[in-house]
Amino acid sequence: MTDSKLYIYNTLKRERELFEPLHPGFVGMYLCGPTVYGDAHLGHARPAVTFDVLFRYLTYLGYKVRYVRNITDVGHLVNDADEGEDKIQKKARLEHLEPMEVVQQYTLAYHRNMGQLNVKPPSIEPRASGHIIEQVLMIEKIIEHGYAYISEGSVYFDVKRFEKDYPYGELSGRVTEDLQHNTRELDGQSEKRNPLDFALWKKASPEHIMHWPSPWSEGFPGWHIECSAMSAKYLGETFDIHGGGMDLLFPHHECEIAQSLGANGKQPVRYWMHNNMLTINGQKMGKSLNNFITLDELFSGKHSLLEKPYSPMALRFCMLQAHYRSTIDFSNKGLDDAEKAYSKLSDIYLLLKDMNWNGTTVNLEVEKTLSSFEQDCIDAMNDDMNTAIVLSNMFKVSTNVNIFSTSGKTEGVSKETFEKFKNAYCTFFTDILGLVPNESAAQSGEEFGNLVDSLLEVRNEAKKKKDFTLADAIRNVLSKFVTLKDSADKTSWKHEKKK
Ligand code: ZN
Repeated sequence: MTDSKLYIYNTLKRERELFEPLHPGFVGMYLCGPTVYGDAHLGHARPAVTFDVLFRYLTYLGYKVRYVRNITDVGHLVNDADEGEDKIQKKARLEHLEPMEVVQQYTLAYHRNMGQLNVKPPSIEPRASGHIIEQVLMIEKIIEHGYAYISEGSVYFDVKRFEKDYPYGELSGRVTEDLQHNTRELDGQSEKRNPLDFALWKKASPEHIMHWPSPWSEGFPGWHIECSAMSAKYLGETFDIHGGGMDLLFPHHECEIAQSLGANGKQPVRYWMHNNMLTINGQKMGKSLNNFITLDELFSGKHSLLEKPYSPMALRFCMLQAHYRSTIDFSNKGLDDAEKAYSKLSDIYLLLKDMNWNGTTVNLEVEKTLSSFEQDCIDAMNDDMNTAIVLSNMFKVSTNVNIFSTSGKTEGVSKETFEKFKNAYCTFFTDILGLVPNESAAQSGEEFGNLVDSLLEVRNEAKKKKDFTLADAIRNVLSKFVTLKDSADKTSWKHEKKK
């Protein structure tokens, strides 16, 4: 267990706070997972990767982490204002499938995409439809405490009543009076007492096929209650970290807090963490803008906005290059740059992995750079998970590794420092940032290198035999691919792409 001081920006408190878990050595963490009614897209990748890195880092620090990431398979309606069809049921109707076939199909696809991105599976992945009883019991507690009312077989959370005892809107910074102003007037037909009230349970209409029995009606849970019920079940009524995209701040996370306070009288979450959103060529991603890119489209290059396919690691790297609370703009150029940067660090990883210390001298500067590498990376992660700085630290030391590799000698560094550095670099690359090295690219690079070396040997033989025609011919051919430098006894070469 490292006595590392991790600081996290807490959205609820609007400040960086020292992370201190509720139970020593244990971290309970929850992430709102996908609603599985369509292919996973770029918007799904960011929270998954962000909280995967946090999961990995907390584990590295020595915590036992229970990471819960749910699957929403019921209750998320087409319209967030508790109206319209269930998103999954709608998809099932359009595709002539059972709703649970839709859920199965897109859950498997989501898992496949997450695997490609090297996102670790969570410790528990609960489904909303598997926790109807827990949700009903929680709603009963909220009604019992006076914060919800029954109307025509549905149950609504009473925001006005709740506000007499607790603040509402603290997380998102929204004020109910403003919200009221911006919500359309009730048409008199509504079952809600107040437009701000939100559904905890909805009575199913005859055409609604996903329904369960409850004390109030045959119906289905509202979208927000599943996260409150499932997080309490697996992590306790108060737990450490709740994550999600900033788009979930309101109403989803605000409602989660209200429900948990209403049922248990306790703040459910100690640290709220939100990743920022992404744009595509400067525009918000949306189906209507034709810039909605699924992960399968990105990895295959099959989308009109893409110039070529991009690897899952290029995408992962692209997200790690930004702080999770900054927006990311995706473009072909940005992804290209990320792909190149990733493959540079991947090459360094592969060189270093098989390198053994064989130095003879210690150079203070080299020693200093390499001995501070691990702590510099830890400091960056402790500073609200600044993966961008970790990557820039990795770029800084790549020169040293390249010199070791070309010279065949780990000169200038002590054995102890070299081994500590090598271990830290490899751990940060694979275990913490979750990057998978590009072995096949390195393989072809190695084969290419062997070919160049062999041709240079033939050229040297030719020169010895004074066959300058052949020697020059080989030189001319090689110069198309690499930069050659002749010295008295040998020829060295550098890999530089010739135009
Ligand atoms: Zn949620």
